[in-house]
Amino acid sequence: MTSPIRTTCPYCGVGCGVLVNRTDQGITVSGDPDHPANFGRLCSKGSALAETIGLEGRLLTPRIAGQEAGWDEALDLVARRFAETIALHGPDSVGFYVSGQLLTEDYYAANKLMKGFIGSANIDTNSRLCMASSVAGHRRAFGSDTVPGLYEDLELADLVVLTGSNLAWCHPVLYQRLLAARSARPEMRVVVIDPRRTATCEIADLLLPIAPGSDAALFNLVLAALAERGLTDTGFLQHVTGAAAAIATASASDPALTGLDPALLAQFIDLWCGTEKVVTVYSQGINQSATGTDKVNAILNCHLATGRIGRPGMGPFSVTGQPNAMGGREVGGLANMLACHLALENPVHREAVQDFWQSPRMADAPGLKAVEMFEAVEAGKIKALWIMSTNPAMSMPQADRVARAIAACEFTVVSDVMAETDTTLLADVLLPAAAWGEKDGTVTNSERRISRQRAFRAAPGEARPDWKIISQVAERMGWGASFAWNSPSEIHAEYAALSGMAGQLGSDFDISDGPGDYETMPPTLWPQSPARRGGRFFTDGRFHTPDGKARMVPVTPAAPAPHRPGTLRLNTGRIRDHWHSMTRTGLSPRLSAHIAEPFLEVHPDDATRIGLNPAGLAQLSNGHGSAILRVLITDRVTPGQVFAPIHWSGRNAAAGRIDALVTGPTDPVSGQPALKEALVHVAPF
Ligand code: SF4
Repeated sequence: MTSPIRTTCPYCGVGCGVLVNRTDQGITVSGDPDHPANFGRLCSKGSALAETIGLEGRLLTPRIAGQEAGWDEALDLVARRFAETIALHGPDSVGFYVSGQLLTEDYYAANKLMKGFIGSANIDTNSRLCMASSVAGHRRAFGSDTVPGLYEDLELADLVVLTGSNLAWCHPVLYQRLLAARSARPEMRVVVIDPRRTATCEIADLLLPIAPGSDAALFNLVLAALAERGLTDTGFLQHVTGAAAAIATASASDPALTGLDPALLAQFIDLWCGTEKVVTVYSQGINQSATGTDKVNAILNCHLATGRIGRPGMGPFSVTGQPNAMGGREVGGLANMLACHLALENPVHREAVQDFWQSPRMADAPGLKAVEMFEAVEAGKIKALWIMSTNPAMSMPQADRVARAIAACEFTVVSDVMAETDTTLLADVLLPAAAWGEKDGTVTNSERRISRQRAFRAAPGEARPDWKIISQVAERMGWGASFAWNSPSEIHAEYAALSGMAGQLGSDFDISDGPGDYETMPPTLWPQSPARRGGRFFTDGRFHTPDGKARMVPVTPAAPAPHRPGTLRLNTGRIRDHWHSMTRTGLSPRLSAHIAEPFLEVHPDDATRIGLNPAGLAQLSNGHGSAILRVLITDRVTPGQVFAPIHWSGRNAAAGRIDALVTGPTDPVSGQPALKEALVHVAPF
């Protein structure tokens, strides 16, 4: 047997290390005992990876208008149509919609082509749907998109607060680490804040069934109590501005907004105020909201007011959904950021990046964020669109409307691993991309750890890595010399050098003195500078704002969402054993056996009132779409609320494509849509 290949799981943002063994019978996978994210653990999805690498459904050759084509013909057509569109209508008439599934080197190539050579910032990512409000909250508070802490802080804390996070199913190995830590230190307390009783609630010492959307009110009440009880850290507050205003606004918050029993609320506030080592973990339940950035800042305010940040066992902690959402943030894959945490709105930063890239132009204004981009496609303003490694006709809010917009776009290119998704079926040109295990690159997990993904087999058919496809289009558009990489290691070297320049401009993201050889690179936390190697941020009270101080942001909680008579509030989320649109996990019978079909959790009182039977069918509908789901009657949800998973896709209602029903108003700061919720009519089917 050959020695195992060390790579990284392609699913969630925990970023577990995986050992791949190749034998005559095929491959086997196991957890990498030396990877600091998982120390050998894998969850059900990670351990089934070997079952999900078959070629069933793979896109193996380029296609033009549904017909097989050669690479040269397809690439020539893509480059010509993009160049013609730019020449006729300007750089902002084209867009790239990319993905947290891309490796950092792919992301780097796409971002460089769009911002530095096409000259538009119309590149956004499906990570906008996942954690853009965390990015915006971090930037408002810290002056940079910096995750202050480490996974081990969850193990070192005396109180772990999980809010808007079903960690047990969505970040299972981090949950396993938390379980193990709690079992070793039974005095550790865990609070779970969730309107729905999820699997994560099993670990809770205290469970807060909060009213949907009221997290900002809850953390405001914590902040107000900290101030009233004299428990703010006056020493640390010397490194913070805006505390008085944030506390004054927080003090006006109405406890009734939370919908919580006053005794439960008091218990939580006492715990938070009375525990030094607190980590507040948050995820999509906070971010996927029309007020997500405010919710993030309400959490950060509590940690800044007490100096409980950047120290062992203390801090706010955003856990990202996708394997490389963090790498995409770092590399500038969002429409409002430059590479290496440099600011698109800063002319010095723009000039420095353009100079580094020796590019003919540089985007000088933020581009269209995900929802805006598809609105521009619908309005005919984006005339050529390139979608990479994602399925927006299934996963965007108002997915039916997005599908119609893509279908009507003048020219749509989709690079994907799979031949038939809701989105590939709408493309003019399909480009076959290499999948996990077939390409090399890096990803960054939720604790800022950069790990290698490594190929362990050849790409099938004519599939190519995304960075290669992007550079071959750039070459045909006349910029070959700037995209003449022979390998992802060359891209990484360029990226690391750019980060060194960014570091000189004050960016926190500097990996230029990283761990050396790309091929043997171990999982590595950034920053790598000797002063901060492998460490936490903000322990020293130095932030990345112009005055070096953090900002507490006054947060006025949103009023409760209006309720329309006859509707129920739909809450959406993931299940344990499937990932996104199931193109990989759906190939494993073992994973599909956990939950075999799309379902709707309904409270018994609502089921009786509506006339729904256990295991019967329910039809959900609103002005945007409809879905037919299997009924699961349970008190995991409260009356007036229902829950459905996001994973099922397909173009008819019976397929259960739930994002067709989600309206998705966006957060005004981050542009992240409220994917978690919608008002729906529910009836027996
Ligand atoms: Fe993969 Fe996430 Fe499971 Fe780890 S926890 S094995 S990264 S899905």
